[in-house]
Amino acid sequence: MKKKSTVAVVRVESDNITAGFARLMDLIGGMDALVVPFHEVMIKPNWATDRDYTTGAVTHPSVIIECIKHVQKSGAAKIYVGDSSFVGKSTEGAIEKSGLRMIKSKRVKTIDFKKSEYVHVGIPNALRYRRLGLPKEIMQSQIIINIPVMKTHDCLPVTLGLKNMKGVLSDKDKRRFHSWGLEEGIIDVNRIVLPDLTIIDGLIGMEGDGPLYGTPANAKLLIASFDPLAAEVAAINAMGFDHEAMAYIQMAYEAGFGEKHISKIDMVGDDLDSVKRMFKSSYYNGKTFHDGKIRVYDTRACSACRSVLNGYVREAAGALKEKDIGLTFLAGDLSGNGNQMDGATIGIGKCLYEHRQECTCYVPGCPPKKRNIKAAVEQLIDDK
Ligand code: SF4
Repeated sequence: MKKKSTVAVVRVESDNITAGFARLMDLIGGMDALVVPFHEVMIKPNWATDRDYTTGAVTHPSVIIECIKHVQKSGAAKIYVGDSSFVGKSTEGAIEKSGLRMIKSKRVKTIDFKKSEYVHVGIPNALRYRRLGLPKEIMQSQIIINIPVMKTHDCLPVTLGLKNMKGVLSDKDKRRFHSWGLEEGIIDVNRIVLPDLTIIDGLIGMEGDGPLYGTPANAKLLIASFDPLAAEVAAINAMGFDHEAMAYIQMAYEAGFGEKHISKIDMVGDDLDSVKRMFKSSYYNGKTFHDGKIRVYDTRACSACRSVLNGYVREAAGALKEKDIGLTFLAGDLSGNGNQMDGATIGIGKCLYEHRQECTCYVPGCPPKKRNIKAAVEQLIDDK
């Protein structure tokens, strides 16, 4: 009979992270169950951006440090802690903010994958990406420990362990993910770097406008499992979402990444229902800013257009408010725009090309460049 996957759930107060982490490890059988002396171990945190961990955007440094201590105790020969921040964000800045440079040990090394040498790997049975590049340091590690943050996401609607592995990719491959299919990409990358241990950091976590601009959720949770899918499913439920409604979970199950049925998972530690905290979700079509004066409709847009558009609107919001101008931004298709074609509309992306004449101005590209959206809006304001 197949052994049940075990998931440990531990509620942790911020002044008791060392004891909370130790309990988490005990519940799954200890780090020794995975790491043996002479192993090279890669710890993969979430260093998506160079913001402070208190925002909930990146992995809590104390969780990384506790993990390093447990891996060291198991006798690992070398410990890498590596990631590559979002395109346009500085991994070095994220490492600096994490304070991990303070660790003075010849056996521990922080890595910015943006500077790594990449090796191309073929992906058998790929859903979309038949070849992806992996950093050399990932290739030479025998063990991968994934430490994502518990966050909401504007497309998925959560980002946890499986999505966190996207951070091993080069910026070039990351860009392809957002226009070729994020969910398929998540499955394909995990086919070649499926973590041996997943530790989900929900000590703070992020709700609302995740994965970067939401608010701290203060969920006070750590979840761990050797089964990456079981850990993911437990975390999704702890956040108050339904994992059965998420396409990538079904894809991961079909790919054989682990167990998705809660009834078949051995849940240990604190009761999942008693630690559950309903996270405010991130994505909804028709986001408004400044009392509804700025509106964003992006039905069926892929994550590339969404991230460019949301990035621009956030950066420009202050300036647009000063101008006291009403604008509607459109991306994807027009099916969910609530007939907002009246007034000044800015259509972006090749998906709206056929509707360009219906927009006040149109910005081409797939995805369009943020600077071109900025220029189009400035021109529109000048012309008023
Ligand atoms: S134009 Fe935007 S929504 Fe359309 S395919 Fe390109 S990136 Fe995706």
